[in-house]
Amino acid sequence: MRTIRGKLTAWYTAALLVALAAFAAALYLELRKPSALELDSRLELETSLAIRWLQDSHRVLGRLVLGDTLDAGASSGAAGPQDLTGPSLSPGVGAYFEAYRDYLILVDRDRNILFLSESARALSFQSLRTLTDQIPPELTPKPPTTIPLSAPGGAVRLTVVPVKGAGEDLGAILLAAPFTNSSFDPRVLLNAILVVSPIVVAFAVALAYWLAGTALVPVRLIMDEMDAIKDGRSLHRRLAVPLSNDELARLALTLNGMLARLETSFSSLHRFTADASHELKTPLMVLRAGVERALTHPGTPTESIEALDEALEQVNQMSEMVEDLLTLARADEGRAPLAMEPLDLRDLVADAAETAGLLAERQGIDVTSTVPEHAVMLPADRQRLRELLLNLATNAVKYTPAGGSVAIELEDDPAVVQLRVTDTGIGIAPGDLPHIFDRFWRADPARSRTGERPGVGLGLSITKWIAEAHGGTITVASRPGRGTSFTVTLPRTAAPLELVPRSRLTPPE
Ligand code: ADP
Repeated sequence: MRTIRGKLTAWYTAALLVALAAFAAALYLELRKPSALELDSRLELETSLAIRWLQDSHRVLGRLVLGDTLDAGASSGAAGPQDLTGPSLSPGVGAYFEAYRDYLILVDRDRNILFLSESARALSFQSLRTLTDQIPPELTPKPPTTIPLSAPGGAVRLTVVPVKGAGEDLGAILLAAPFTNSSFDPRVLLNAILVVSPIVVAFAVALAYWLAGTALVPVRLIMDEMDAIKDGRSLHRRLAVPLSNDELARLALTLNGMLARLETSFSSLHRFTADASHELKTPLMVLRAGVERALTHPGTPTESIEALDEALEQVNQMSEMVEDLLTLARADEGRAPLAMEPLDLRDLVADAAETAGLLAERQGIDVTSTVPEHAVMLPADRQRLRELLLNLATNAVKYTPAGGSVAIELEDDPAVVQLRVTDTGIGIAPGDLPHIFDRFWRADPARSRTGERPGVGLGLSITKWIAEAHGGTITVASRPGRGTSFTVTLPRTAAPLELVPRSRLTPPE
């Protein structure tokens, strides 16, 4: 249940079940009322008929009980089925009650059972006890009441009437009628509800699931649009505001306002970086020219040469960083268009392998390149792709100790072209891998920016941008101490079309 749709459906189902249960209970109780009234009038009629029969029989026959009720009363003390072995109603009199469908129990003044109707005889000992316990000790009349009974008929409506004018032996009559004996059986209703409910619930839940889905469609649309916008390069886009003027319309308006503010602050940040980098370029160029002139000037004292060398190195590095920053700032602003042209990528690989080879030679590292025998043509920006390959290859050389090797490979698959730069260098710790494409990130801050492996941590950010600007991706796999492998995958339909100046696209030879 992780989606709002699932939660809404679950809540709706729970509410529906509770409502259905409450409705069924209310209906059951309401419909039971008339059947209780019907049973009450039947109980009243049957008890008065029974008493009349006992009184008439007493007038004609005299004593109606066989056996001595006083002895039996003293021996058992309480009513119960076992009392049937004691005194009992004369069979001729009792035969009249056999026609009763309801439970009829006749007791003496000590509540010992004298007679049980046929249906009462079929009851369990426990149920019989439950019924006889309802007879008040003083044999006072008991108005009709409902009591639960663990008998096949379930709950019963019960009344107790004292028997008068039929001899000293008779105490009271208990008559109990199960609700199933009324013309309306509420259990029929319950059964009907139990059969119909699952179908109703299943249908209602399916409907609720569909409704929840339909109601959430605009939310999903907003989520999809936000997903498309969140890459940072589409902040100019806005959500479509529904005409309904409801909560969703307000949400879309709020998000649009947020996007507008984000766009403003992002663009002023990008503009500031671009402007600052641009403004720094000229003074750095002037500075470099000055230092170079001083270095080559014959009058420069030898003790200053070392300091000037160091200054030149720093100026060169700063110029590189400013250049990289300017590239990234322009890319962020969408002002770094690619100059697309059909290229044979084998030339770029050979070029990068040669440059990296020169660097590697000094450090005793072996650089190899593998390319297919046929031309691998792809529309791409020569300068940028060259920069991408050089970044990866020079990094590979930079982070590989002497005696290691660097391999640059070009693979031509049907749908994609893959460029892979693999080294046997120091590798990257698994915890560092997610950060290596972040701007200004370097694996080990202790490594100075100018020392053994100089750099500022912008190379891979630019590399990633170049790969993505061509519609491709870059991935990395690395094992510390064993080496690293960067793979750039470029689709055959390289680069989003709007970046391709058609005038510069010429068919491959
Ligand atoms: P720079 O090389 O200037 O520090 P990059 O953006 O090119 O910046 O690389 C960022 C970091 O990623 C590097 O500082 C280095 O820690 C790590 N890295 C890049 N390439 C490799 C490689 N081939 N082997 C090991 N670490 C690498």
